[in-house]
Amino acid sequence: MTAAIQTRDLHKRYGHHVALHGLDLTVRPGTVFGLIGPNGAGKTTTLRTLVDIIRPTAGTVSVLGEDPRRGGAALRRRIGFVPGELRLDGRATGHRLLSFYAEVSGPVDRGMVGDLADRLGVDLNRPVRSLSKGNKQKIGLIQAFMHRPELLILDEPTSGLDPLVQREFLQMLREARDAGQTVLLSSHVLSEIQQAADEVAVLADGRVVADGDVASLRLGAVRRVRATLTGADAASVLSRFTQIPGMTETNAAERGDAVLLTGTIEGAIDPLVKALAQYDVHDLTMEEPDLEESVLRLYGDPTSSKPPRVADTPGSGRRQHGVSAKRRGLGEGERERKGGAR
Ligand code: ATP
Repeated sequence: MTAAIQTRDLHKRYGHHVALHGLDLTVRPGTVFGLIGPNGAGKTTTLRTLVDIIRPTAGTVSVLGEDPRRGGAALRRRIGFVPGELRLDGRATGHRLLSFYAEVSGPVDRGMVGDLADRLGVDLNRPVRSLSKGNKQKIGLIQAFMHRPELLILDEPTSGLDPLVQREFLQMLREARDAGQTVLLSSHVLSEIQQAADEVAVLADGRVVADGDVASLRLGAVRRVRATLTGADAASVLSRFTQIPGMTETNAAERGDAVLLTGTIEGAIDPLVKALAQYDVHDLTMEEPDLEESVLRLYGDPTSSKPPRVADTPGSGRRQHGVSAKRRGLGEGERERKGGAR
């Protein structure tokens, strides 16, 4: 089966800065593929290359079996694209703008536009320049989905959307996949990719540091834990929670009558929840650390090791040490960023 998207040894250089270091990606038709990575990892650069907004320095790209540099308007009509930085400033209403896009993208079912606008909750009668960032983003999503393209390429598509609309959007992705469409979306939010994607590639510093099916990545999820407990002293809480598999950086401190437990858990959370249930729990938060830290914990420094498959690294905790030293490598891309014009 021909891949919907394939890149081989893709390089992109901006002046002296190398944004992509030989990227190999394969997106199978009819799947939702998540491209995830911290700021500056190269996600936008990759997606722009696929739709021929920018051209690679070296390497090959195939999109729906064609080279985007030669596919022209015919190939573009087969793709729905949401750019990372959507600018909609005109006086035209949402309806007008979408009619204009429909002339470019090809036949659009009118009912589909109204249906998408209702689902996302945007008023198409208002001039787009008067819309909030999130509502502009909804117009961007409608223009990408409305002609039911074979391939959707979505750069940070949920940026600016509130959680309810994000959930609707995830449902739209599932429906697109069920209808046989292929989706490539980028995000720097791990949980979003976990909910939406079948397969994932983790990008860091212009390299794929891991790829595979998303179920394997979920196993490796890292969460910070913070709980306020009563009914025990700090020493006994500490000794109980240091025994939880995958729990590290565990700390317990007395705060008045309560004990504040903090730590990081990698992998299954069930043993932790069962241990917590033995205490009076007054407060509990479990949150993802930022993606940069998750990537480093799971996959180490992308500049120093060969990319493992996600399936080979099931969150065993083996690679979770030395995070702060390694963090420095990832931050560099971000520091260099945002200066140059795109
Ligand atoms: P974000 O999540 O912040 O959008 P990203 O993963 O999409 O990040 P890119 O925008 O692709 O990352 O940037 C990758 C690297 O290329 C960064 O180091 C960035 O500074 C650099 N870069 C991107 N565009 C340009 C440009 N036009 N000129 C110079 N450097 C650029």
